[in-house]
Amino acid sequence: MGSGFLAGNDKKLIAKFLKISEEQLEKSHLEKVDMNGVEAWRPKFKKPFGPCTFYKEEVHCIIHPVKPELCRLANCKHDATQEFYKKYYQKEQKELWKIAEEIGGK
Ligand code: SF4
Repeated sequence: MGSGFLAGNDKKLIAKFLKISEEQLEKSHLEKVDMNGVEAWRPKFKKPFGPCTFYKEEVHCIIHPVKPELCRLANCKHDATQEFYKKYYQKEQKELWKIAEEIGGK
C-alpha cells in the first residue's frame, strides 16, 4: 500500500474537509518528505508499509472528495510509484520490502 503526495491546494482542501486546521492535519495525518531536494507532504502510514492514515477498510478513502492529486492517478491498494522505485532505484530496499511483505505489512 502507499499514499499519494499532496500538491497545490490539497492540504488546504483536506483540512477544510476534515474540519481541522492545516497545522492539525500536518501533525496528525501527514509526513514531510524530501523529493529530490523539494519538500513534499504525504499521508502517514498506519504502520511501516501499511495503509494510509486515511484508509478505512469499509469505505476505503475517508477523504475521497479531496484526496491528493496523486491518489487520483493511482489507488490506495496499488501504488505504481512504489513499484517503480522498487524496480529501478531502491535495490538496497528490496530486502526491506521482502521482509515487510512477509510480515504482512502490505
Ligand atoms: S486514496 Fe485516500 S486512502 Fe488511498 S492513499 Fe490516497 S489519501 Fe490515502
